[in-house]
Amino acid sequence: MALPTPDRDTTDTAAAVQTRLRAMIENGALGADGRLPTEREICLMTRAGRRSVRRALEALEADGLIWRKQGKGTFAGLPPDPTQVLAAEIVGETNFLEVMDARLCIEPALAAMCAVRALPADIGRMRNLAGRTMGAADPASIELWDGALHKMIARTAGNKPLLTAFSMIDEIRGNENWRGLRSKARNVETLQVSDGEHHVIIDRIEAGDATGAEAAMRAHLSSLARNLRRIIDTRMSEGVLT
Ligand SMILES: [Zn+2]
Repeated sequence: MALPTPDRDTTDTAAAVQTRLRAMIENGALGADGRLPTEREICLMTRAGRRSVRRALEALEADGLIWRKQGKGTFAGLPPDPTQVLAAEIVGETNFLEVMDARLCIEPALAAMCAVRALPADIGRMRNLAGRTMGAADPASIELWDGALHKMIARTAGNKPLLTAFSMIDEIRGNENWRGLRSKARNVETLQVSDGEHHVIIDRIEAGDATGAEAAMRAHLSSLARNLRRIIDTRMSEGVLT
């Protein structure tokens, strides 16, 4: 009796292919560039039908385990974030005062747009993030929550090109060397001032007052810039004295 022809495209086949590919990704069984075999190669390797292979690849992509680059193939991991790559290139050619100037150019504009678009639910989230910034116990948490609040305002503004510019500046800002400097510029008093400023920004956004939100964001960033400059000046004068 002839054996029945195995169905090469069942859900089970797709799941089996997925398991096999997942194991290859996790065991580092791919080339140095993380490239997966082609669909055709996977079909031959697993004896599965092309439909099952596609389904398995789609599932892995949905899980964030692989990404496809048009005309280049399928790769393990997440696609590189272009803002991260750009930020890494630029970071050595700039300094935190330039970054602060860049923030002063775009964040007030984002706050103004945010005031026009924000919904009550957005305001609630902003207040929550401001509260967490103030309640944070260590510099890393303060930066995390403050960064999240500024990002939330930028996202709510709903302008993709400006949001991309914001994200790149934010990436540069995350530079380790400057984190220590920022934490030195911070104390209980400046934190309270910042908290008050955050609330004024959110109040203006909630009131739909674009001009007021813009001015409030500018005032907040200006006071951060002043604190940073004070620390830099102190360090320089200490350097001269010692
Ligand atoms: Zn802030």
